[in-house]
Amino acid sequence: MKKPEYEKLPREFRADYAKFAAVRLALSAVVLAAAAFGCAFLDFSGMKYPAMGRVLLAGAAIAADCVLLGLHRFLRPSWEGTVLSVGAGYKLKAAGEKGKPAKRIIVELEIDRGDPKPYLPELYREDKHAVGDQHINVYQTEAPYKEGDTLVYLRGTKVPARYGVKDAEDLTDPKFVCAFCGEVNELKHERCRECGRTVLR
Ligand SMILES: [Zn+2]
Repeated sequence: MKKPEYEKLPREFRADYAKFAAVRLALSAVVLAAAAFGCAFLDFSGMKYPAMGRVLLAGAAIAADCVLLGLHRFLRPSWEGTVLSVGAGYKLKAAGEKGKPAKRIIVELEIDRGDPKPYLPELYREDKHAVGDQHINVYQTEAPYKEGDTLVYLRGTKVPARYGVKDAEDLTDPKFVCAFCGEVNELKHERCRECGRTVLR
């Protein structure tokens, strides 16, 4: 697996990434420390199984860190690679907001990271463009990833970012995706319209 060369990434992006990672990890540590404190000093003797109270508290803290702060994403190593192919499909979710089954768009990428076999991640994107019963496949029309793109995934971020998209003149409708929140942005934007962080392109 090829490691990203951090020094090649724009300095402003690296600064945003360092801040993002530091804040997430610090907040996660606070939550875990609070849970550890609770496990040590709270009185669980009223419970049928006092040990279970500690396990539940620790589990809740870890789950909260993963859901709210994406702590689990820091376990995935960073990598860099080239897109070999882009596919798209749907997955059905059990029920949407109004009780109807909701479609979830998957992007199936084939990425050469220098491994013997290509890496095949499935990326999700919620369908924001559902009109009535018709779902418009945002990823197929916006296609934030393209064949031949260089992608970089940094530990802790949500999705791999596409970068090195140079002159957009002859590309049709060029877009790129924010590594921090997954929002699809126009090439002309320097900061993500969703989270305000510097985007890689
Ligand atoms: Zn963003």
